[in-house]
Amino acid sequence: MPSRSQKLFQEAKKYIPGGVNSPVRACSSVGAEPIFIASGRGARISSVDDRDYVDFVLSWGPLLLGHAHPKVNEAIHAAAERGSSFGAPCPDEVELAKVIVEALPGVEMVRMVNSGTEAAMSALRLARACTGRNKVLKFDGCYHGHADAFLAGAGSGVATLSIPGTPGVPAAAVADTLLRPYNDLQPVKAIFTDHGADLAAVIVEPVAANMGLVLPLPDFLEGLRDLCRANGSLLIFDEVITGFRIGYQGAQGRFNIDPDLTVLGKIIGGGLPVGAYGGKAEYMRQIAPQGQVYQAGTLSGNPLAMAAGLATLKILQGCDYAGLEKRVENFCRELELIFQSLGIDVCINRVASMFTIFFTSQRVTDFASAKTADAALYARFFKHMRDQGLFIAPSAFEAAMISFAHTDDDFISFARAVKSFTG
Ligand SMILES: *Cc1c(COP(=O)(O)O)cnc(C)c1O
Repeated sequence: MPSRSQKLFQEAKKYIPGGVNSPVRACSSVGAEPIFIASGRGARISSVDDRDYVDFVLSWGPLLLGHAHPKVNEAIHAAAERGSSFGAPCPDEVELAKVIVEALPGVEMVRMVNSGTEAAMSALRLARACTGRNKVLKFDGCYHGHADAFLAGAGSGVATLSIPGTPGVPAAAVADTLLRPYNDLQPVKAIFTDHGADLAAVIVEPVAANMGLVLPLPDFLEGLRDLCRANGSLLIFDEVITGFRIGYQGAQGRFNIDPDLTVLGKIIGGGLPVGAYGGKAEYMRQIAPQGQVYQAGTLSGNPLAMAAGLATLKILQGCDYAGLEKRVENFCRELELIFQSLGIDVCINRVASMFTIFFTSQRVTDFASAKTADAALYARFFKHMRDQGLFIAPSAFEAAMISFAHTDDDFISFARAVKSFTG
């Protein structure tokens, strides 16, 4: 008998490409099928097949407070009662912008959009406009949404050439996108020597979380900051994941680096579709209607999304980030010991409320070392954990997300399930 999830997936595939609205959800890279979710509360989700899971995906990051937080829900309901969209300014837009500006040291003004993709794309346009230059440097394994310019895959070692990472992206769209390995300043210096005068921006995830979790080595971010400043290029921090997660002040506060532009999303929408880009006022003032750089959105600053984001950030102001980080640290130590006793090599990278278990004996500091992880072993791990009621990302190159709603019992369940993994 097929389960309800299996039946829904069969039907979905008739109407939706691959049966899903975002590729990784199909679970194909771990050789599994998706489970359809009926509801979520706190750190738990329930499937349409009436099974419960402890959720370590959390909608890929937005739900730092867990699912269906009562105060966030209350704010959304109240906003819906007032009307879902006006195409005219509403008070919560101002309030949320103010809260973001007050929280993030590098953000003096902010513009709301509807996704992280849109925010990154718009930030690049702004950087190009402000500098009058076209080239952008990004790092292997960093993800900045699916706008054409960021979908450059690594070429075959060709020094400054990028090839499109997907059909449908013209070579011209990524011709100005330069790619270099994460965490290595030397090749970045070489790029500046060769292209410094043409480089509009360097965009980076200050903690990379889309090749699995990879922390910046000491001096990497400072080095980027210095190089950009010396060459008149803008430094763009993509804090779509790290913003309000690795600390209330984001990565820029935690590492004390002052980016020119910041890309946001995920947590600032409290689970509703939101993105934002912000930065120094001298740059942000270039955006229409104050300046000439066009960027618009029918649903931008949407009242429901603003209410959810605002309620979330206000609650986060009173949350114990350090306490959660300490719990996650202890939990990751315990996991290392468990894997050791199982005789399985792992490198567990962690920061704040995120971690990634890489099945490799190497230290993971960039995309190349991340790719040494055993993907087949991860696929078995995913299925084992899901069978045991633990929902982790259906891809070896993602970060596990923890929320303030996760209890020690949730960690114990996770650890217990790992102990019964046979490899
Ligand atoms: C999720 C993510 C994006 C894209 O955001 P969407 O809302 O999915 O478009 C961009 N950058 C980073 C670092 C992300 O994690």
